Amino acid sequence: MLDACYTTSAVQAAVDLANTLKPIKGEDALETVEQLRDFLDAHPAAEPPSPAANQGAGPRQLTRADLAEVRAVRETVREVLERASADADEAAALINEGLRRSRTTPVLRHEDDRWWTEVTSDTDRCSAHLAATTLSALASVIATLGPARLGVCAGPTCRATFADLSRNGSKQYCTRTCAHRASVAAYRSRNGPR
Ligand SMILES: [Zn+2]
Repeated sequence: MLDACYTTSAVQAAVDLANTLKPIKGEDALETVEQLRDFLDAHPAAEPPSPAANQGAGPRQLTRADLAEVRAVRETVREVLERASADADEAAALINEGLRRSRTTPVLRHEDDRWWTEVTSDTDRCSAHLAATTLSALASVIATLGPARLGVCAGPTCRATFADLSRNGSKQYCTRTCAHRASVAAYRSRNGPR
């Protein structure tokens, strides 16, 4: 049922995009056009569905302008993930504005026996397509599972974002590593001097 509304890979693309920035460490994995190419190669869900004009032309050429635009999209996606659980209306406004700006349009697709809807952009901008894919995926998570499913890792030195698609929806940490680190720290602070 959920699969009809969003694909896990599109949700993952949104989270991964936000997490190319590590605010506490001050690291940024989206500073060059090559890094943008790598990100898109690793996230085919975020690539434009090869437009007719581009067919047979191989991978699209990316520019510094694409990079700047994608970094702006990342800012919006990250803000949505950070704010949704505390202020869902604000997150919704960010999503709606981002979708409007990217001139998104819903498309019904059919392959073999499967039907699904997809939100794409009717521009040929890489950033607009990325915004359409990621923001509509986050919108579907909010609409189907609730805004509290989007969040920021509770690890004090982490602040990576996550989308919790699990059954019970009790995720607090981005990864098991972060959860483990936090439980070890809590144990130490309960049990004697450091
Ligand atoms: Zn974490």
